[in-house]
Amino acid sequence: MIIDLRSDTVTKPSKGMLEAMLNARVGDDVYKEDETVNRLEKRIAELFNKPQALFFPSGTMANQAALKLHTNSGDQVICDKYSHIFNYEGGGASFNSGISCKLLDGHRGMFTAEQVIEAINPPDFYHSPLSTLVCLENTTNKGGGACYDLDEIVKIKEVCDTHGLGLHLDGARLWNALVATGQTASSYGELFDTISVCLSKGLGAPMGSVLVGKQQFMNKAMRVRKVLGGGMRQVGFMAAAGLYGLDHNIERMSDDHAKAKEIAGLLESLSYVKSVEKTETNILIFNLKETTDEAAFVSYLFDNDVIISDMGQGKLRIVTHYDYSNASHKLVLDVLKKFESV
Ligand SMILES: *Cc1c(COP(=O)(O)O)cnc(C)c1O
Repeated sequence: MIIDLRSDTVTKPSKGMLEAMLNARVGDDVYKEDETVNRLEKRIAELFNKPQALFFPSGTMANQAALKLHTNSGDQVICDKYSHIFNYEGGGASFNSGISCKLLDGHRGMFTAEQVIEAINPPDFYHSPLSTLVCLENTTNKGGGACYDLDEIVKIKEVCDTHGLGLHLDGARLWNALVATGQTASSYGELFDTISVCLSKGLGAPMGSVLVGKQQFMNKAMRVRKVLGGGMRQVGFMAAAGLYGLDHNIERMSDDHAKAKEIAGLLESLSYVKSVEKTETNILIFNLKETTDEAAFVSYLFDNDVIISDMGQGKLRIVTHYDYSNASHKLVLDVLKKFESV
């Protein structure tokens, strides 16, 4: 059996989730007639205390739609240099919306209100692109699952209000942040104009994301989703998986976090590891000492049925998830320990 720790997207639906999917009542969602999708959208909207939510096939599409809803061609979005919208969405910001990204040099994928203020181009200075949107990520992916302080987001929101900027949250792993910090979904709903959340990561669903937001943005969201090719038909089977995940798989993420922290603790004690980034949720990033051959380490793990990600620049990544059992965890700790004597 392979223990796949590359991402929390590798999980397969559990028996209970499959049953919920099989029993879903569906319809044509392009006509808004899929009652399970409608139920999921209503549930997420209520959770964030926002008027409307919309189901998307992927987190990338939900984020890309948000960028489109907030901006006009030529505008600029302010985001972190590590952000998913800049690094991992295929250049979609420019492809779909004709906008550029102002990259902030944040800490572990997170930035401050101070940095936002410095990044805003004066609106009357027509030589520069018009700043119209700020996009945060929580938890951060490339930043190693770090969680924002709500106080800092409140300050960023104030800056956005002062300068008339929209505020979008890439909340692919917001569930993990909520579980780790005890913050609430509604407090995020209060601060952000739009929020995207993934069903296909910690919640364990096979696909899907939801964009939730203010009415003024969501009015156009159906059209933008259609343009991006995201209008789907009897997709309630997938929404049912998301609803099941919301019911059963949120609290259990604390188990993923505990396992990631335990691996981090072990790695810190091992002689071949140089440093381990502070592990707050289910993502763990670490570096090997210069004297250790990184490729040899990764292939040693592979030979022992453990797969992890190489993020480049010496960063290795482990992500814990729903399908990572206690038995697998014990095995991984053993395999990591044994590399010392290889
Ligand atoms: C996974 C992820 C997304 C969305 O990815 P999809 O694979 O398109 O669902 C967006 N933002 C972040 C930070 C992510 O980790």
